[in-house]
Amino acid sequence: MGELEQQTGWGFETRAVHVGQAPDPTSGAVVTPITLSTTFAQDGVGNHKGFEYSRSGNPTRAALETCVASLEDASHGLAFASGLAAEDNVLRLLTQGDRVLLGNDAYGGTFRLISKVWQPLGFPWSAVDLTDIDALAADWPSDTRLVWLETPTNPLLTCIDIEAIASLAHSRGALVVVDNTFATPFLQQPLTLGADIVVHSATKYLGGHSDVVGGFIALNDETLADRLRFTQNAAGAIPAPFDCYLVLRGVKTLAVRMERHCANARAVVDLLLGHPGVDRVLYPQLPDHPGHAAAAKQMRDFGGMVSFTLRGGEAAALEVVKHTEVFTLAESLGAVESLIEHPGQMTHASAAGSPLQVPASLVRLSVGIESAADLVADLAQALEHVR
Ligand SMILES: *Cc1c(COP(=O)(O)O)cnc(C)c1O
Repeated sequence: MGELEQQTGWGFETRAVHVGQAPDPTSGAVVTPITLSTTFAQDGVGNHKGFEYSRSGNPTRAALETCVASLEDASHGLAFASGLAAEDNVLRLLTQGDRVLLGNDAYGGTFRLISKVWQPLGFPWSAVDLTDIDALAADWPSDTRLVWLETPTNPLLTCIDIEAIASLAHSRGALVVVDNTFATPFLQQPLTLGADIVVHSATKYLGGHSDVVGGFIALNDETLADRLRFTQNAAGAIPAPFDCYLVLRGVKTLAVRMERHCANARAVVDLLLGHPGVDRVLYPQLPDHPGHAAAAKQMRDFGGMVSFTLRGGEAAALEVVKHTEVFTLAESLGAVESLIEHPGQMTHASAAGSPLQVPASLVRLSVGIESAADLVADLAQALEHVR
């Protein structure tokens, strides 16, 4: 465990299917076994096969950690019980008084963790506009130790120039954490762009089937990796072996799923752009989209998430999300089925009244891998209600 197998010559799709997943040496099983054993036999005291107790290390988890680390071009990978458990583990790198700069458009749960759990313990934070590098440099709080960014952001899909933020943060002695949940390593590899740590909600595209909650950390720095692995074991927010198996099964098809998510998102964007009831369409591929240049530079494609605002305001947004049939009204994202939601009252309700508050007329789509024609027709009929 730990050091990545030397298989970096393989393409992304091959690594997703094979890295960490060689046939089981004892049985020949082609699929990584789900190892439920909590403890592992030792030949003599301290003489074991790499596993002692399942919180500290488990073979199914090790397979997942090796595979996803490889997909992020990282030397080290750590799996967690949820995305927020992974985020919490990263925040444990800080010492009291260290400031976190959080992009002003972020996952509501990240905002809640930083502002409601960590701040009261003595960890200051500020919400900042990460798209304006000059303003950020001019107004940089000197106690900053961590910059936390998402790109594309949730739910406005703003794209942030990872290279530019990393070079500024590093010149001021701060680490850069990128939440790569929306892009996935197939579309964007933050570590290769200068980020120090990547976090994931594996619940989303990595798992990809809305049937497992999980989190992940990937990084190259050995010292930081040792500290993160220490708290992974010491605080114990680890995923169950079955959950590791489900995420591992999901990542095998990540590349093909992402290609279809992106293609379907484009079809949906085309419909929305021509609709009179729609005010703004938010999708990183659009030339006037905030951060389009950064997205074009650092992403392979523009992703499966699409947001839009309605001319009829909140009432119209609530009307649209009520009337889709193929798109299911639900929180979460990144799986095979298409989802629709109203961030203001659902995923981002906890950000109301804060700098991270989202527009009330906003609708967010997680575009799935169904037939593009069915998705477009479904949205078109739902939009008939707000014409
Ligand atoms: C869902 C999500 C998280 C939190 O992950 P959980 O697995 O729900 O704990 C963090 N960041 C982003 C961008 C997310 O979408």
